[in-house]
Amino acid sequence: MGRSRIGVPDRSRRALLAGRARATPLLRPPWARDEAGFTAACTACNACAEACPPAVLVRGGGGFPEFDPARGECTFCGDCAAACGEGAFVAPTGRPWALRAWIGDACLAGAGVVCWSCRDACGESAIRFPPALPVARPQVAADRCTGCGGCVGACPTSAITIAGASAEVPVVA
Ligand code: SF4
Ligand code: SF4
Ligand code: SF4
Repeated sequence: MGRSRIGVPDRSRRALLAGRARATPLLRPPWARDEAGFTAACTACNACAEACPPAVLVRGGGGFPEFDPARGECTFCGDCAAACGEGAFVAPTGRPWALRAWIGDACLAGAGVVCWSCRDACGESAIRFPPALPVARPQVAADRCTGCGGCVGACPTSAITIAGASAEVPVVA
């Protein structure tokens, strides 16, 4: 199924919100214009990805750049936006995107295994482990999470997905 910029299909969205499934979100670089504006302006020159210090931008479908949090953490340096001469980005001043981390069922806590790798990787202290028995489970504080992706690669079971806080983020279904 192709990409949809309208949003997450109901079934996928419900599952995602419940942390039970990992929809594959289509993630543009920070400060990218809305999907229609971005793809209209972008010439797929790849300059933004080449300018990205942590190399977390990759060529996606159609050659358009995508953020791949499995490659590392976006530092919000703004170098990608600065490298674009085609107007595909808004001014990198406000909130870079409406993304956050979601923790799915592959989290080791569900199997009774203690693991704090995601918490330790989060520079925003956005992942907390409220005391619980037999094993505390991680919870993402949405008001602190920047969607930087730093926790994604730290998770030994790939349980963490970066996606929108609402249905506004396009997905690959
Ligand atoms: S803001 Fe910086 S670290 Fe983040 S994707 Fe752009 S160039 Fe890379
Ligand atoms: S620098 Fe601009 S035009 Fe080039 S790939 Fe990135 S967003 Fe597209
Ligand atoms: S996406 Fe970034 S800010 Fe959010 S929980 Fe993961 S490491 Fe922390």
